[in-house]
Amino acid sequence: MPYFFFSLFLLFILTPSSLVNATSNPNHTPINHDLYHSSAGLLEQIKALVHRHPDKLSVETIEAGNRGYGAEITVVTYSRSRKKADDKSKYRILLVDKFLVFQSFGQHGRELITTELALKILSVLSEEQFLPNKDAVFLNRTLDNLVLKVVPMENLNGRKLVEEGDLCERRNGRGVDLNRNWSVDWGKKEKDYDPYEENPGTAPFSEPESQIMRNLALSFEPHMWINVHSGMEALFMPYDHRNTTPIGSASQQMRALLSALNQIHCQNHCVTGSGGGSVGYLAHGTATDFMYEIVKVPMAFTFEIYGDPKASSKDCFKMFNPVDLATFNRVLNDWSAAFFTIFRLGQLQVFGNNSEAAASSFLSIDDYLDGYLMERRNRYSKKMEVLDLGMQEIRTYFRLFLLSSVLLLFMFCSRISKSSRPIVSALPL
Ligand SMILES: [Zn+2]
Repeated sequence: MPYFFFSLFLLFILTPSSLVNATSNPNHTPINHDLYHSSAGLLEQIKALVHRHPDKLSVETIEAGNRGYGAEITVVTYSRSRKKADDKSKYRILLVDKFLVFQSFGQHGRELITTELALKILSVLSEEQFLPNKDAVFLNRTLDNLVLKVVPMENLNGRKLVEEGDLCERRNGRGVDLNRNWSVDWGKKEKDYDPYEENPGTAPFSEPESQIMRNLALSFEPHMWINVHSGMEALFMPYDHRNTTPIGSASQQMRALLSALNQIHCQNHCVTGSGGGSVGYLAHGTATDFMYEIVKVPMAFTFEIYGDPKASSKDCFKMFNPVDLATFNRVLNDWSAAFFTIFRLGQLQVFGNNSEAAASSFLSIDDYLDGYLMERRNRYSKKMEVLDLGMQEIRTYFRLFLLSSVLLLFMFCSRISKSSRPIVSALPL
């Protein structure tokens, strides 16, 4: 009998705490470590990837701190002409005809899936992984003129809190929401303000993480900014602090891009429009509003890549992250493909301003659609012959469909439909 109690005691002290938590909180899904890297493991993988591909990738770690709090941010830069770009004095000149994209992942600690997507995109850029439905011609044209800055885990300190068991934590290591700490409309509080979710900090840019990100954006001057989050599936453009989109051609271009992406990659089920008008609440002091208003990034977006609306609002890991292998892989494959599509479409918009480039842009849209239809053909190979016969018609149909959608949006999109707030107690944006 004493052996029985001794065994029970041993079982108790040897059981991992995560298992105890999962057992005592049956509604709280624990982090699936078979699918997700730890923060240290993920950053290690990324640094090893850069080390294997010094011709394309470089990495730096930037540190900052104040009032006894320190933060560090790892930044990876992708450029095919990286060797030539090493000479700093020539760097800006080399960037003149390049399409510059700045992406951030993991700004909220609990959104682990976004950081896995950063690793996936860097693996595709280094050609260690491939997009299943993109051909080499498409990828080459997209990457030739691309310079991409990726912050794979903006909120490392907050992420560590999540890994220590606070699965609902979205703020940084001292309780500030890094997507409310920017200066555009900073500090305004709505009636349903919840400091656990949205604490904006003591002042704009009070947080070292936001300071690092602001400096990166101001020195890089990207054409495109994408802040990657999870909690729902959505493609947002400015503004977050108002329920309207900006006026003018830049706004129309952003709307056209999101419309095309929604058709191609979301089968039109992604919520699109201004963050403030579509997510169901206004967000003040966000990164995307700063990028658009102050840095003057012409294409500034927030993408929400996954959400489980059926999950309990306290079951944060499940609400913000896929929990099974099939969904995990689908999200990473679909969204990495979507990013390469928007890099391509964004390039066409930026370099379509002069007539020569504009002509090649229209050709490229055709090429793009050819590539896209080829992908569809490969995906549905059983219908090869039928598709071969119908390729020309389908291509024409797609071109007209895409162009007419853009035109319709230009004409009628002054009003963005407002949807009900998807998650009351845990905000995605
Ligand atoms: Zn978020």
